[in-house]
Amino acid sequence: MNGRIGIDLGGTKIEAVMLDRSGREVFRKRVPTPRGDYAGTISAVGDLVQQIGEGTVGIGIPGAESKGLIKNANSTWLIGKPLAKDLEAALGRPVRLENDANCFALSEAVDGAGKGAAVVFGVILGTGVGGGIVVDGKVIRGANAIAGEWGHNPLPAPTAADLPHPDCYCGRKGCIETYLSGPGFSRDHEARTGQRLKAEEIASLEDESLSRYEERLARSLAGVINVLDPDVIVLGGGMSNVARLYTEVPRLWGRHVFSDRVTTRLVPPVHGDSSGVRGAAWLWND
Ligand SMILES: [Zn+2]
Repeated sequence: MNGRIGIDLGGTKIEAVMLDRSGREVFRKRVPTPRGDYAGTISAVGDLVQQIGEGTVGIGIPGAESKGLIKNANSTWLIGKPLAKDLEAALGRPVRLENDANCFALSEAVDGAGKGAAVVFGVILGTGVGGGIVVDGKVIRGANAIAGEWGHNPLPAPTAADLPHPDCYCGRKGCIETYLSGPGFSRDHEARTGQRLKAEEIASLEDESLSRYEERLARSLAGVINVLDPDVIVLGGGMSNVARLYTEVPRLWGRHVFSDRVTTRLVPPVHGDSSGVRGAAWLWND
């Protein structure tokens, strides 16, 4: 059988799946990532692919590829390396490589929450805030390989409640990520209440902190809607488990969108944590 192999090359684990022609998972395995070891990372991926056998190979990475070299990766030992070329040499077959948020968006667009939609914006609300754009089943990578990276735009229309702007690791202040990541949500709650809690604990309280989060998410997504006007926005990452977001945020975003009506749907993911690795497999969706 000739299926699609997807590899999610994460900072702590490497996950592999094989999808058959219908998208059904017929193999799955995860191994620890050889952290800090580039050659070891190449051979770990090689071993997984060899165990699976024939099939196209797509790889999702926590970073981007620009002019054949990896950048913006929090797995820093990959930065500046010709990862796709080295994997192709090791595997003896062509490899497609894409940012993991783009893989998430692709997975949900092909056979997940955005199935059948022309324009899908996939959002990661986790340790960081990322995003990916899929149009007609194809990832839009962009001229700088940063399409969909809305997390490092400034929070739109800040109010007194949003000040002072938090510092972001990227060197800027007041990035969307500093408010909407899980750690950003915790930081905001602690600044307001003095309580130090994890994001999921705060979400279960359903108090003012969650309302502040929803209102900021609405403002930030309205900015995306004004530029991209997607049919569907799919949330992923830990914060996507907060059920209230899907009713409250669309109630709030209308006042910031340049349109008399907003038909964009905000939906939870179908494949959840599996979306990254499934999307990597779907990079060969042609
Ligand atoms: Zn930033």
